[in-house]
Amino acid sequence: MKVIWKKISVLFGLMIGFFFFSILSRAEEPLIIVIDPGHGGENLGAEYENYTEKEMTMTVAQAMKEELEKYDQVLVYLTHDMDMNMSLEQRALFAKEKNADFLFCLHFNMSVNHDLFGAEVWVPAGGEFYSKGYSFAQIEMSELTSIGLYSRGIKTKLNDKGDNYYGILRYCSEQQIPSVLIEHCHLDHVKDQDFYQQGEEQLKEFGRLDATAVAKYFRLCSTTLGVDYSDYPVEETYVPEGMVKPDKTEPELCQIEVTDINKETGEVTVSMEAEDSDSYILYYHYSLDGGTVYSMPEAWPRAKAWDQSDKEHSFIICVPFDQPIALRCGASNGFDVWAESNEIILDPIEDPERLKEEKAREEQERLEAAEKLLEDTAPVENTASQKEEVDLVMVEVGQESITSSTEILIIMALIIVILICIIFVSFFMAKMIHLLIRGNRKQ
Ligand SMILES: [Zn+2]
Repeated sequence: MKVIWKKISVLFGLMIGFFFFSILSRAEEPLIIVIDPGHGGENLGAEYENYTEKEMTMTVAQAMKEELEKYDQVLVYLTHDMDMNMSLEQRALFAKEKNADFLFCLHFNMSVNHDLFGAEVWVPAGGEFYSKGYSFAQIEMSELTSIGLYSRGIKTKLNDKGDNYYGILRYCSEQQIPSVLIEHCHLDHVKDQDFYQQGEEQLKEFGRLDATAVAKYFRLCSTTLGVDYSDYPVEETYVPEGMVKPDKTEPELCQIEVTDINKETGEVTVSMEAEDSDSYILYYHYSLDGGTVYSMPEAWPRAKAWDQSDKEHSFIICVPFDQPIALRCGASNGFDVWAESNEIILDPIEDPERLKEEKAREEQERLEAAEKLLEDTAPVENTASQKEEVDLVMVEVGQESITSSTEILIIMALIIVILICIIFVSFFMAKMIHLLIRGNRKQ
């Protein structure tokens, strides 16, 4: 019995010794990082204005390597540092040959309709590669959003066979190398252009951010930089059983109501509700013609966390005057699957400027009609001075009869004539009476 216990304790001691030895020997091994500048050679990648993706990713990769080499115990390789053709499989094999601990594939994005914006990180869909990729991507995303980029999220994408859609992630997983694909921003969207169009230094800054994320994930220290990330809180990610599938279903909730209409400015306040239980709401947009033409997507608020979207969002849109509006909105989830809202018909909002002009024109027409009426009543006497008088009189619009000074003169003359006639008749009557009385006396 004693002999057995002795053997067990020796074995136990050996195991502990081996455990510490392996830790110590591991601690001395440098971390091996492979950086893959996306595209190269004939494969230019995205092209926008004067920017070519393969050149941009090379600048970022070199800056990332330079920064990462400032950390202790790290070996950094680029899959290629010349402008050359290199297949995705060759890149993964290169990482395997170097015995890489992780491969970081760098890219810039563009969308088919030039309407998407923001940064995203694609991770392998299966097992520990998902877990490691996702944990790293969370740190990478917080670095990218810290400079103001919009987070499109951390995602998986599968091909028809249910394997990783992105070749570099597929080949790296086959070679048992953890990997991620970083899409830094969209070249073709105005919201992202400020992040890369201010000169080469901005691209280098991307490289430094990427390197910092790597340093934090691997809890590196740098005597050169004087930083110590050995206690950095890396969030653990569960190891999935199968492949983590992307969300293919549209948001379940997408509903709008109009809460206010400003008839002076044409501003319509819309209160929108959107929800997707599988992922989160990423963008919203609106249509004024019932869904035929939509506005450019806008950022949907995610106040709590990048993957927890708010349920409600209120925003103001400006609608054109004098047109019936069929308002409809759309909400997309993190995987760019859109849902359409209910439709709200708005009566045309009358253009206040047009209404003002019309009122002024009506006043003018009424004035002109009144003037014309006066001209018809007294055509001869209508001299220039009288016209001024008329204008003054015309201020009271709607006055039906107009008395002129000539009319008064005519009436006064008539009265005088009538009075003279009465006097003559009176004299004549008095004379006749007198003659009659005298004739009676003579008889
Ligand atoms: Zn690319």
